[in-house]
Amino acid sequence: TKYIVVSGGVVSGIGKGIIASSTGLLLKTTGLKVTAIKIDPYMNIDAGTMRPTEHGEVYVLNDGGEVDLDLGNYERYLDVTLCRDNNITTGKIYREVIEKERRGDYLGKTVQIIPHVTNAIQDWIERVSKIPVDDTDEEPDVCIVELGGTVGDIESAPFVEAIRQFQFRVGYDNFALIHVSLVPDMHGEQKTKPTQTTVHALRGLGLLPDLIACRLLAAQPLHLATKEKISLFCHVKTDQVLGVHDVSSVYHVPLLLQSQGIVEFLKKRLNLADVNIPKGMV
Ligand code: ADP
Repeated sequence: TKYIVVSGGVVSGIGKGIIASSTGLLLKTTGLKVTAIKIDPYMNIDAGTMRPTEHGEVYVLNDGGEVDLDLGNYERYLDVTLCRDNNITTGKIYREVIEKERRGDYLGKTVQIIPHVTNAIQDWIERVSKIPVDDTDEEPDVCIVELGGTVGDIESAPFVEAIRQFQFRVGYDNFALIHVSLVPDMHGEQKTKPTQTTVHALRGLGLLPDLIACRLLAAQPLHLATKEKISLFCHVKTDQVLGVHDVSSVYHVPLLLQSQGIVEFLKKRLNLADVNIPKGMV
């Protein structure tokens, strides 16, 4: 299985879910089987007990799992059926670790965030990524893992550390990271500093972005000069910087990413040799 982690910086709610779903959709159109996992770093076991006015509508899966709305995006974009385990929360991970501790599974060891919680997170991702999500009953080729919240939060720290370790567990060819950042538009001037800061924080935690998706909360696309500046300051090539401006429908986001070469990039990066880009998508 190939893993594509989508993390975010600067602010939440910038469209990480849409970028993650769109990336999955593009890979699916090349003939790959794609599944998705959403990580929500809150202590609730699931979204069922959370106020919809604050959190958004609760999405109910076929198995009755009450989960984050993003799982609905994944089911629609990828035409898959997910289960409650495709939504990981801090509550679920801690419950699992504490139940194991009560059973005595840790054989007298001190139970700690590292390695016990971080291992539980990695084991969970690995296990769920292999569950078939369509009627072919075949293991997915690609698993999109969306990390909710923003990198640098106390809440997401165990997940960020687990993902840092996970890149070594699965190997370089099987792991890519897309970091979604905000590029504020100040009266026509596109500012790169928040992106520099969040990528710096990400690297400090041991994660190197393969792609930086720059979200502009404006209709204006990312300028070439802005892309070059982010490339220079964030230590990536210009083709690793993608612009995602406001579009009239979120279903245009896959085309926006495709036009910037995301499929070719991921194909090369993850050694997806036998993938064909369907004509008409470019
Ligand atoms: P996050 O996962 O970062 O919390 P979402 O993917 O849920 O964010 O997106 C937040 C909101 O922004 C959603 O209502 C979504 O429809 C909207 N949105 C995301 N990307 C775009 C875009 N490129 N253009 C317009 N609206 C967008």
